[in-house]
This record gives sequence, C-alpha cells and structure tokens, in this order.
Amino acid sequence: MANVDHGGVEAARFGISRSPKWPAVEKAHLDKQPRCVCCKPGADTKAALQVHHIFPFHYCIALGRPDLELDQRNLITLCEDEAGKPGENHHLLVGHLDDFQSSNLSVVEDAKTTFYGMAAAAIRADPKWQAKEAKRLAPLDKMTAADKQAFKDAMNTRFPLQTTGPSHAGA
Ligand SMILES: [Zn+2]
Repeated sequence: MANVDHGGVEAARFGISRSPKWPAVEKAHLDKQPRCVCCKPGADTKAALQVHHIFPFHYCIALGRPDLELDQRNLITLCEDEAGKPGENHHLLVGHLDDFQSSNLSVVEDAKTTFYGMAAAAIRADPKWQAKEAKRLAPLDKMTAADKQAFKDAMNTRFPLQTTGPSHAGA
C-alpha cells in the first residue's frame, strides 16, 4: 500500500520490523473487512484505509505474543485522511487516540458504538474521547512493570494462544 506505515515507524524505534508475512495477512484482512469499521456505509469511499492492530504488534512481539502480529482476530480496518484521499482519520483518532506512539485497546467497541459514524471534529470535542486520550496506553519504553503485566493479561485473556492454525508459526 502507498499509505504511510505509522505502526511500522513506531515499531522501528524499538528495533522491531514487520513480519515478511504481513502484506499477505493485511490483504486477506482487507478482503474480509474492506471498509472502515467506524464509518457509516459509503462514508469512507474516498478515504485511505489502514489495517490496524488492536494490540499493537510491536508490544505483542516484545511482551510474548508475536503470533498476534499475523492473527486476524487482532486486526480492524480504519480510515485515514491522506492527500487526495479524505477521511475522518478514524485510524489516528479512534485507533491511536491522536498519537501513533499510543493505542486504544477498546478500539473495536469504540469504532462500532462510541464513536461510530462521527466526524473527526466531533470526536475530538467528545468528552468520552478526551477522557480516553488523557489516560491512554504508554509507549512501550515508558511502561512500568505493572503496565506490562496489565497489557499481557488483557492480550492473553482476549486472544488466547491458539495451539493449532496457521498464524501460530510466529514471525
Ligand atoms: Zn472511518
């Protein structure tokens, strides 16, 4: 894709790069989920699209679950505002709470309900979004031991390790 790879840029700060299998997994996800989950049908037809990791892949790799980089359960399609491809920036605002060094672990629920169909300006003005932004996930290098344990617990509870299936091979 021609889009800016914000997730890849952030992961590179920690010496982590995407799996060579990522482009195929990304394409398979777009085939399955070809629209922004946060946009009403038809609203994202001109927008750039990003396949976003619910649990950011470099955290998954660093904290013991590299399989989740390539696991379809951990992916969601969101729109992005780029030159010539206007969108509501749901990737930045709902996926990352306005900072690509952070992430919104409630992105699926928030895209489908809390901020569904909302324009970027309305999301920024929403007290629910402002409250989330104020206590968002710390960048990997700023996490405490307790932060890391909470992240691992959330990740392993939501997406238990699959002992069979093609995505368990690792990166
Ligand atoms: Zn959208």
